[in-house]
Amino acid sequence: MHHGPVFAAPFHTPGDPAAAPYSYARSHNPTWTALEAAIAGLESGLAGGTHANGMPFRARALVFGSGMAAVAAVFGAVLRAGDVVVLPSDAYFAARVLLEQQFVPRGVTVRTAPTAVMERAGREGLFEGARLVWLETPSNPTMEVCDIRAICAAAGAAGTGDRRPLVAVDNTTATPLGQSPLELGADLSMCSDTKLMTGHGDLLLGHVAVREGALDRDGADLYDRLLAWRTQVGAVVGPMEAWLALRSLATLPLRAERSCANALAMAQFLKSRPETAEVRYPGLPSDPGYAVAKGQMRLFGPVLSFVLKNREAAEGFLSRSELVTVATSFGGIVTTAERRARWGNDSVPEGLIRLSAGCEAVEDLLEDFGRALEGLG
Ligand SMILES: *Cc1c(COP(=O)(O)O)cnc(C)c1O
Repeated sequence: MHHGPVFAAPFHTPGDPAAAPYSYARSHNPTWTALEAAIAGLESGLAGGTHANGMPFRARALVFGSGMAAVAAVFGAVLRAGDVVVLPSDAYFAARVLLEQQFVPRGVTVRTAPTAVMERAGREGLFEGARLVWLETPSNPTMEVCDIRAICAAAGAAGTGDRRPLVAVDNTTATPLGQSPLELGADLSMCSDTKLMTGHGDLLLGHVAVREGALDRDGADLYDRLLAWRTQVGAVVGPMEAWLALRSLATLPLRAERSCANALAMAQFLKSRPETAEVRYPGLPSDPGYAVAKGQMRLFGPVLSFVLKNREAAEGFLSRSELVTVATSFGGIVTTAERRARWGNDSVPEGLIRLSAGCEAVEDLLEDFGRALEGLG
């Protein structure tokens, strides 16, 4: 059990402040400490923290005011002028924009490849001379999967020692309960905890985890570098949100198990329907990403995508469904969906719907889907 949130901005710190665990709440806060310990436990993996190279490890985590604050911390702590970053062309839209608008003008070069061929692109030299390789698997919204172990091996081969690119994984769709990037060989594991991690659609939060003692190329401790970024930028989470997140994490296994089971049932149902052109869910044995996903994920996540004939059909489905809430974001206890092309940010078909399975009774949802699809083909 954890006591309530600690709201102090300055803490009582007589004498030498270096000796005090908490001095000012932009740097440290006891409620964050409890949340970070819980997240670090998840990030250490179910194998008890064994790196792909066989070495045991402990994860350390830092929480941020949003998923994007966590993304920015990785880019900001690692990238310098003259560096090359490799990014999936289908990565989360805001991460692409952040690099293009804030980091490229400061001298960073971006190389891109689609998630579905990132592994091959790595073998073929895309990672040469890169400072950071960013991955997102499964990707949002197209549900492509890439092989984290194989990509880390390709990154390792693309430069020895301190010239090796760091590999970071945006693990938002899977969460560290469903997939352990640090165990699979990645250097940084980032997650928007706004989504399935906290799951109630009522707070913004993000985190980054690294292996304890992991060093940056110049010998600086990676965790310290991320912590310095957070303190200097002030990309912090409020204590109330941190406390709500701690409560929410207690139900993560229950919520994740149910919503992932619902997602699989929905994917199977949608695939059986004549109205759907394509259904993507990494947990479907027929999915192109299934074999790789099975090798690196414990849970396949709550998100799936499917394509209806055109924009009208997709809008028709969403308006006729009585149980699906039309909303962006995902990973909540309530089933949500949206026609993704309405944002104009991703190159996806007009009829593509990204759907996030909630924790409702799946029979009700499938019956509702059936009614909403009727006659759309
Ligand atoms: C939502 C999301 C983010 C950004 O997280 P926020 O909490 O909204 O800032 C980053 N990556 C992925 C894959 C996401 O889905």
